[in-house]
Amino acid sequence: WAPCPKVRRMLTSVSNGPGREIGVFGGTFDPPHVGHLAIALDVRHVLGLDEVWFVVAGDPWQKSGERSITPASIRLAMVEAAVGEVDGLQVSTLEIDRGGPSYTADTLTGLAAAYAADTFHLIIGSDAAVGLDTWHRPDVVAELAKLVVVDRGGREGGRPPEGWSYELVDVPALEVSSSDLRRRVADGAPIRGLVSAGVADVIDAHDLYRESS
Ligand code: ATP
Repeated sequence: WAPCPKVRRMLTSVSNGPGREIGVFGGTFDPPHVGHLAIALDVRHVLGLDEVWFVVAGDPWQKSGERSITPASIRLAMVEAAVGEVDGLQVSTLEIDRGGPSYTADTLTGLAAAYAADTFHLIIGSDAAVGLDTWHRPDVVAELAKLVVVDRGGREGGRPPEGWSYELVDVPALEVSSSDLRRRVADGAPIRGLVSAGVADVIDAHDLYRESS
């Protein structure tokens, strides 16, 4: 794929550093919020990961049937604004560039092939963890990454289905979600403080979420 300049820098640095521990944090990020940032930073700290990569879903196939999703290029701009220059966090356009449904199995297959020396830790919230068996090729996901589960406040969640090995990382419970933020914008409620200033600017500039879906 053709990575953007920032991602290109990231790939160059990774290929020079074999044997790294990388967190893979996939999401729709519509929009990215403080919960995402806090989780990524905390998991990185607790597990001593070298970096956490925010992988922006090009086509979040399990969500796109339910509501209209903000175009990937705008969600990418928001994630880049959120992650900014935060130490240890990077943005990956892998799934956007690949096109088609954003299957984590394909993403991990690509990463494992490109960075065979590195170990990948797939970070997911407990609400996503319960549905792991419904993902495309869950066997590949289980084989190619170590699973890291974090609890999330304010949303029912659980644990991965039987048979999955995982590590539970205790993170601060932050009751914030993208769906609540979209609702807040539609209701005219403030979101600054719950998203980075740069993210709020992108939302304003593109007039996102004015109508509740
Ligand atoms: P939505 O409300 O639209 O479903 P979301 O807030 O869950 O969106 P996603 O981009 O779908 O955001 O989430 C990406 C990942 O981050 C998922 O694994 C999700 O479980 C996790 N996550 C999101 N918000 C939190 C939170 N507040 N605490 C813990 N995990 C979270």
